[in-house]
Amino acid sequence: GPGDIHAEVVVLGSGPGGYTAAFRAADLGKNVVLIEKNPTLGGVCLNVGCIPSKALLHVAKVLTEADEMSAHGITFAKPKIDLDALRGWKDSVVGQLTGGLDGLAKARKVTTVRGSGRFTGPNMIEVTGDDGTKTVSFDQCIIAAGSEPVELPFIPHDDPRVLDSTGALELADIPKRMLILGGGIIGLEMACVYDALGAKISVVEFMDQLMPGADKDMVKPLQTRIAKRYEKIMLKTKVTAMEAQKKGLKVTFEDDKGEVTTDTFDKVLVSVGRRPNGKLINAEAAGVAVDERGFIAVDNQQRTGVPHIFAIGDVVGQPMLAHKAVHEGKVAAEVCAGHNRAFDALVIPSVAYTDPEVAWVGITETEAKAKGLKVGKGVFPWAASGRALSNARSEGMTKVLFDPTDDRVVGAAIVGTNAGDLIAEVALAIEMGCDATDLGHTIHPHPTLSETVNFAAEMFEGTITDLM
Ligand code: FAD
Repeated sequence: GPGDIHAEVVVLGSGPGGYTAAFRAADLGKNVVLIEKNPTLGGVCLNVGCIPSKALLHVAKVLTEADEMSAHGITFAKPKIDLDALRGWKDSVVGQLTGGLDGLAKARKVTTVRGSGRFTGPNMIEVTGDDGTKTVSFDQCIIAAGSEPVELPFIPHDDPRVLDSTGALELADIPKRMLILGGGIIGLEMACVYDALGAKISVVEFMDQLMPGADKDMVKPLQTRIAKRYEKIMLKTKVTAMEAQKKGLKVTFEDDKGEVTTDTFDKVLVSVGRRPNGKLINAEAAGVAVDERGFIAVDNQQRTGVPHIFAIGDVVGQPMLAHKAVHEGKVAAEVCAGHNRAFDALVIPSVAYTDPEVAWVGITETEAKAKGLKVGKGVFPWAASGRALSNARSEGMTKVLFDPTDDRVVGAAIVGTNAGDLIAEVALAIEMGCDATDLGHTIHPHPTLSETVNFAAEMFEGTITDLM
């Protein structure tokens, strides 16, 4: 039946996937309603993810660079940290972007409806907000409900000293000793922030390396650096218990040999992954299948099993990254508008904005080995880069992987300052079908870190003669 509001396209969730899809559908002439339960648009990425974390990582970088300049003849006074001002600045960065989205929605006549949405049928969503309940009927729907941090059953998540990424970004205070539970991208980025602000950091990771997913050799320069700065890095170790005590959080660790130890921390950041929000939207009422973990399966046009309902972003699967959500959002909106579009990206880059940054795209060496695929590689150590040396940060490394049959680029990994910006060139190279000669013969500006991609390709070809 008719709802209080009718939309040709309704988008459920206003994260990077959702707002991109809503704006694109509106630009293509659709009448669009965007449903969001948070007071601000922008989802995890803008409010409690990519953007506030990068603002704080910028501060961390300034602090550590200033500190490390003492080795090169410049000594600054000990920094004074005004947490309220710092928090205010971070919030203002977020506010500019989320406020900007309101303006962009208005300009496109996208109607935003505030409240929590759930399906009540294949063409109806009920939205419950502060001002009661509304129904939105729709011709087509794009689900962009995102994800939330995973909680663990044996952890006292109600204790204010136990943080998730959202809590850590709030920056309530700087703890003396902080445990990062989970050595993935999000945990290590927050570790970097709190370390720079003066906390003593310990990291515990269940796997045998930090940042599982990246090649071990590419994580090593990061690990070497943080091993010097942090109190402790525990690999192949799991946390089996956590007790909230007056003096702190008492954590029990068990390593792979079964050895049990305990330690007490002022704060613990739990960063053990994110779970999709698929189970929270009553998708069954619309006939949309949600798996037991909360993911919604889609085809290459972002269509769920129900042809007029699409899904995008974190809720459809890994990698849970904003640029993937944005790309899928465009595809879904264009398909809604009748365009013949499909998700056909060859690669999605991953970046950890740690110090140094770790970035990879396409196949990794570890993956190639596991799949029995032969890859050729060109590796360029930044110790031979004039620019890296001038930056006093020569611990980096650039590795480019090639298909040995035709020399085409199939993957790359970069560790070092600005690796996240540098990896984009290789993503383009893979999408364009470039080979080693294309990368090697393209003139890169000197002296830049971008040359390391060029040099790695030349290393593979064996043509490099002298290094700079
Ligand atoms: P989300 O951003 O999760 O947005 C979903 C939205 O839907 C939310 O606003 C939510 O309130 C709303 N919603 C959900 N259910 C309902 C409902 N029933 N009714 C109404 N509204 C609903 N990715 C990167 O690419 N780069 C980074 O640097 C990066 N850094 C990160 C740092 C942190 C600390 C975290 C936590 C994540 C980071 N990510 C990063 C991941 C990135 O934030 C996500 O991949 C991205 O936000 C996913 O976008 P999305 O559109 O799928 O959903």
